[in-house]
This record gives sequence, structure tokens and C-alpha cells, in this order.
Amino acid sequence: CGIVGYCGLENAEERIIQGLEKLEYRGYDSAGISVINSNKEIKTVKRVGKLKALKEALKDIPLDGKVGVGHTRWATHGVPSNVNSHPQLSQNGKFAVVHNGIIENFLDLKKKLQNQGYQFKSDTDTEVISNLFEFYQEDDFLATALKVSRALEGAYAIGVICQDHPDQLIAIRHESPLIIGVEDNGYIIASDIPALLNYTREVISLKNGELALVEKDSIHFYDFEGHTLKKETEHIDIDI
Ligand code: GLU
Repeated sequence: CGIVGYCGLENAEERIIQGLEKLEYRGYDSAGISVINSNKEIKTVKRVGKLKALKEALKDIPLDGKVGVGHTRWATHGVPSNVNSHPQLSQNGKFAVVHNGIIENFLDLKKKLQNQGYQFKSDTDTEVISNLFEFYQEDDFLATALKVSRALEGAYAIGVICQDHPDQLIAIRHESPLIIGVEDNGYIIASDIPALLNYTREVISLKNGELALVEKDSIHFYDFEGHTLKKETEHIDIDI
């Protein structure tokens, strides 16, 4: 029910956990985080229950990296459990996906992927997204993300990272809120403004059918056909 992601020069775990805490008011049953470490591997920690449980686990397994995604889940497909928590990884472990909302055509997509030999570990609709990324993978992360976006139906805000593109983060929005905070040294994606306010007040809002390709020092916006979009940054004055 909450998404926070980071791509920049600072520590990703710190920003993501702080942001998820600010989104606790939305309610959730489990939480998790994936970060790309300096060896360009995705490391994931997730726990059913409150953020406190996740934070405890992270004390033993610190996630050192500058690109990552985190999530607080309000289960719609599959019971609250460690396995069903997000991030959901693709079968080969290269993609980590966090998702808010519901993929309406997930059963159809799941069957198609299963017919291609994909084995699913969770009962979530979200795992279909990560495996679709693997299925459609091209050299270019953006090209892959555009194909996945066009295949999905329903309500979704998605944050995704890929081991093969350790300096990129992709954010996709369709019928579920997603905003981007602009810092001097990076970008934070989040489902709502409170997650950003400790770090920045410069915000760009994604609209339905928009995708952001985030890099450490640049950001580009596209519609699902891949056309470039120009978007304005807004200054947020309010205190929350
Ligand atoms: N439908 C997804 C799930 O059940 C995402 C739920 C959410 O928005 O937290 O895992």
C-alpha cells in the first residue's frame, strides 16, 4: 500500500525505510526492500508484520547500495506472508518489483508465462509483473518496461530495479498514485508526499499512463508508446 524507491548518490536503505515509515498511516500487513549492492547484485529483505520487524532484520543484513525499492503491502492477492511480501523477484532474480494496486489480467498473464515454463513462488498478482519483465527483457531497460506496461491491465503504481541496469530505476503509473521527489543528488519515488518531505520539496507527479526512467543524475518521462513527455517540477509548501 506504500511504495518508496531511490536512485542517486546517497544510501538507498535509509531513504526507503524512512519513507515507508511516513506512509504507515495508509495501513499495511507486511514490508520489504531490495537494493542493488556494489557487486551489482539485488539483495532483498522482507517480513510479514510491521516495519519494526523489517528494521530488526536489516540490523543483521544491512543493504548497502544507492538504488533500491521498498514496499508496505496491503494484501489483495495471496495471504500476508514473507513469500507474498514485496519486492517480488523475477524467476532469474534479476528484476525486483514493488506494486500498489491490482493487475486485473494477472491470471491470463500467469497462464501464458506458466506455458513458457515460468514457475511462480507467490500467490500475488505482482509476481506476474516481475516475470513479465524477465520474459520481455531486451538490452534496454526502458524498452522492456514499455512492453510490460502495455501488457498490464488494472490499477498499478510500480517501482522496478534490474541487476543488469544497476544505475537505473523505473516508475510506472496507471490508476494508482506515484510521485517523484527531486534532490540535488538523486531521486525518490513514492506513493505520497510525506515520504519525501525530509529530503526534498521539489516534486513531479506522474499521471495515468506515464513512466519515468530514473538515473542518478537525470530523469526522463514517457507515455506507454515510448513518446517523450515534458513534465514540470512543483514546489510543495505544506507541512505534513
Ligand atoms: N495486489 C498486490 C498484492 O496483493 C499489491 C497490494 C498492495 O497494493 O499493497 O500483493
